[in-house]
This record gives sequence, C-alpha cells and structure tokens, in this order.
Amino acid sequence: MAAMTTPTALIAPRWILTMADGAGPLENHAVVLAGDRIQAVLPLPEAQALHPGLPCTALPTHAVMPGLVNTHTHAAMTLMRGLADDLPLMRWLEDHIWPAERTHATAEFVKDGTTLAIAESLLGGVTCLNDMYFFPEEAAAAALETGMRMALGIIVIEFPTRYASDPQDYLDRGLAMRDRHKHDARLSFCLAPHAPYTVSDPTFERVAMLAEQLDLPIHLHLHETEAEIQQSVAQYGCRPIERLSRLGFLGPRLMAVHAVHLLEEEIRSLAHFGCTMVHCPSSNLKLASGFAPVGELLAAGVNVALGTDGAASNNRLDMFEEMRLAAFLAKATTGDAAALPAEAALRMATICGARALGLDDRIGSLEPGKQADIIAVDLDAIDLVPCYHPASHLVYAAGRRDVSHVWIGGEPLVRNGELVRLHVDQLRSRVQGWHTQLFA
Ligand SMILES: [Zn+2]
Repeated sequence: MAAMTTPTALIAPRWILTMADGAGPLENHAVVLAGDRIQAVLPLPEAQALHPGLPCTALPTHAVMPGLVNTHTHAAMTLMRGLADDLPLMRWLEDHIWPAERTHATAEFVKDGTTLAIAESLLGGVTCLNDMYFFPEEAAAAALETGMRMALGIIVIEFPTRYASDPQDYLDRGLAMRDRHKHDARLSFCLAPHAPYTVSDPTFERVAMLAEQLDLPIHLHLHETEAEIQQSVAQYGCRPIERLSRLGFLGPRLMAVHAVHLLEEEIRSLAHFGCTMVHCPSSNLKLASGFAPVGELLAAGVNVALGTDGAASNNRLDMFEEMRLAAFLAKATTGDAAALPAEAALRMATICGARALGLDDRIGSLEPGKQADIIAVDLDAIDLVPCYHPASHLVYAAGRRDVSHVWIGGEPLVRNGELVRLHVDQLRSRVQGWHTQLFA
C-alpha cells in the first residue's frame, strides 16, 4: 500500500488481530501509523527497514486489535448506576428512571455523566460509543474534551422532558446539534427515536424522511419485551416490527436494539431488509427481558452488533463482558457450541458495529487508510497464560482490566492502563456531587 502521508509511529505487539475479512492473528508484525490513520500492517522486520528511527511502542506480550464499538448505550445514565436494581423494564423505567430523569437530567448532568462513561469506556478498550440520551450537545462536548469517538443520537420521544417539549422540538434541537458538529472528525450522528411505545406514527414518519434526506442511521429500541409487543398489538393491531414495516422503516439504516422477541418471519424480514440487530445481553438478562435469538439472526445473515445499554441496566460499560456473554448465550440457546465462536464475537464488537453506524470505511478493522482506533490487551497476567489462540483469550479469558493502551485517531488516550487526557480525581469529585443529589 502506497504511503498516504509520512509515517509517524509503529506499534509492535506479540499478536495483531486486524479483523479484516479472512485474516487470522498475525505474529511478528507491526502497525504503521501516519497521523490519525493506519498506513500499513507489515512484518516487523520490513516495517523497521522501511522506517528506521520511527518511535515504536513495543508490546511483547500483547494482542492489538481495533477499538471496541459499543453500539448501544445511554452514556449519561452512568450517574444512575445501581440506582434501581432487580426490577423488570417497565417498573424500572416508570417508577425509578423516568422520575429521576425528570428531576436531575439537566445539561450539566449529561456532560458529567457522559464524561464518566467515556472514562470507563476508554479504560475498557471502547473507542466508539453509539449514544442515545437527552442534551446530545453536552455529550458532544464531553466527546470533544476527552477525545472519544461518538455517534450522537438525535433523540425523539413523544413526551416532554427537561431537554425538549415535543417531537418537533427534539428533532430541531438534535438537528441543530448536528449542524454545529458535522465537521468534527470524531463525531457522527444517528436519528434516535426512543421506542415503539414512546413514539407515534407521525413522528416515525418524520424520522424516516429525515433519515433518507440526511443519510443517517436510525437507532431504536425494538422488541425488547413481550409487554412492548402486547401493547403494540392492543394499540396498533400489530407487532412493532409490522408497524414499522408499514411506515417504511425497515432497511439497512435501522439498528434494532435488543430484538429479544422475534418470530421466524421477523428474523427473515430483518435479514431481507439488511437491518442491524444490536445485541445487549447483560441488559436483557438483568431486566429479565429474555434471550435474543442471536444464533438464528446470524444464521439468517443479519448484521449483529453489540452494546452494553446504559450503566443503569447493566451495570457496567464492559464490552469484554458483552462479548463473552453473547458467545455463551448463543451456544446455550441454540444447543450448538459453534453458534457464536470467539472470532464472531470479536467481529460483532468491532466491524459489525462500525457497519451499523455507517462508519465501516473509517473504523472497525486495522486496514490501510482507516482511522487508527486501536487497543492493546496484555495477555501475560498469570490468569491468562498459556495463550494458544489470542482470539479465544480475548473473548473467553481476558477482561477489560487487561487493556493497557488505547489510541483513537492515532492519539494515545490510555497508556499503561492510565487515562492520558482525563483527570480521574476531578471527575470523581463531580460524580460524588451527583451522588449526593440523587441519593437525597
Ligand atoms: Zn437502551
């Protein structure tokens, strides 16, 4: 691959998992960075001969891979981690989360909560968050301050909140936010209608039109619980996927988050229309929503990405845990130990998320020309040796605390397990202030 710009640095780990189609783990190779991009992945001796004297991060016991893409979260809700547990979705939302949001979810809350989520995410190897929450302008500010890559949700919900008064107001605010930030290299945008039970037909129609006009993905909770489906049947005479199909909503832009309860024909429909399903195994388990038919979705050819959901229903933003759970659940629910192998879980957490967000030409794999969103995981801890297959280790044995280095757009944001830009003590004291307010 010809040089695009002057190479600036080398990363030389024990293993490289590029997540490029068909590529296995590479040994004795280096990633060549050129500014914010990957210039090449080369055998180490060749990289050193071509680029003598270039600064080199030697990682002799590490696996290097693309940064993890958390394809569904509500970053600011990290301030509500552990606020209400052991409840089903609707009681959790109606009796605890929505009342707390009515009182506390201000612009300042979103800025601090998103910054907290970013700190946790970076330390755990996540380099891109697909966010859905109120005051996305504040989430954008947090992303720009910390260096995080974020897909910001232009949220719309039928009822008023502290952020906006009605569906048109939500859309106006979100679109103005997009206009202000559309040239920021690390930010992208999705339309984010909350869910079938909180969004009306006219609003869905408006969202579908905007998605087409502005070429934006759509980020939507869908078929999360049986109750959601029963309510739709009672109110609209059909299941939510059927309702959305009539509204012209199914297509490659759609990220159907959760999709726990699906009929066979709905799985075929999601595959036929090229929709993405965003699997959030921890959230589905904790809220007792059920077991998503991931094995069947993969077999049908659906693009399946992976998310944590908000920290209030998880209670972690830990994509290593989601990979491991996704793999285990798919095996157990299909009775097939090969239903979701380690390599497939790694793809779900990287390139499949990038594809869902329309960013697969920029992130999701380590290939020449892509952004240098890279993580290193040290596989030398005593509970990780011996290592026969690094992909297997990353999913089944390692965890987020083994992440040592994180780069976004070539910029080091975690070095030797420490945040580079963020000041943890300042952040902790702001979080303590919110804790005092919410606890009261
Ligand atoms: Zn959610």
